[in-house]
Amino acid sequence: MTKHRSIAIDGPSGAGKSTLARALAKALGYLYVDTGAIYRTVGLQACRTGVDPEDRDGVVALLPGLDIRLGYGEDGVQRMFLNGEDVSQAIRQHEISRYASGVSALPEVRAFLLDRQRQLAAEHDVVMDGRDIGTVVLPQADVKIFLTAAPEARARRRWLELQQRGDETDYETVLRDVIDRDEKDTNRATAPLRQAEDAVLADTTQLDLEQSLDLLISIAKERLQA
Ligand code: C5P
Repeated sequence: MTKHRSIAIDGPSGAGKSTLARALAKALGYLYVDTGAIYRTVGLQACRTGVDPEDRDGVVALLPGLDIRLGYGEDGVQRMFLNGEDVSQAIRQHEISRYASGVSALPEVRAFLLDRQRQLAAEHDVVMDGRDIGTVVLPQADVKIFLTAAPEARARRRWLELQQRGDETDYETVLRDVIDRDEKDTNRATAPLRQAEDAVLADTTQLDLEQSLDLLISIAKERLQA
């Protein structure tokens, strides 16, 4: 069996991970795996069934009933299926971010999703983005990048994204949520957000999308050749 290549991209929300990871995967011909979308799918189910994301027993009880699948549209964009339903749009609602962050702090949820993520990397060359890919999911990844930007820059990007989708949440709320989620993701006991020792730090505060992508491509190419 040939070993597949893997690129792990971790970092806080709104650093441009999804957009950049998808573009990097396309540039290299790899499969893009957005692990945040998987956590969002679990969060969506909690929201729909009225389970508080902090209610450990309630969330754990949902897991056996979850059939989560990843698919890819003709455009190469990842689609999420929950029990057969395409929930790719539904998981992007602002409210679901909070649910995703809540359920992702539970060790049972992380264990439930760990094998699936590793399986994808065993079967494909992947660019996988998340919070603990370089540290926990794929500690042997060929390339590890920790992508970040100042909270205000990240909140502004997220706010613009929401606006484009017709979501009227105001900037202050988005900034508060970004800071709040950073705090939760960084301080949780299970798989906290932190830079792997062997990850390259990429700060995109001052960079536009194109410049950020150029930076990632150069890091990836250099490391893949090493
Ligand atoms: O990246 P995104 O904002 O879509 O992720 C939603 C939430 O899922 C994050 O706030 C984080 O709490 C959680 N997450 C995680 N581990 C990952 C990916 C996402 O805990 N690998």
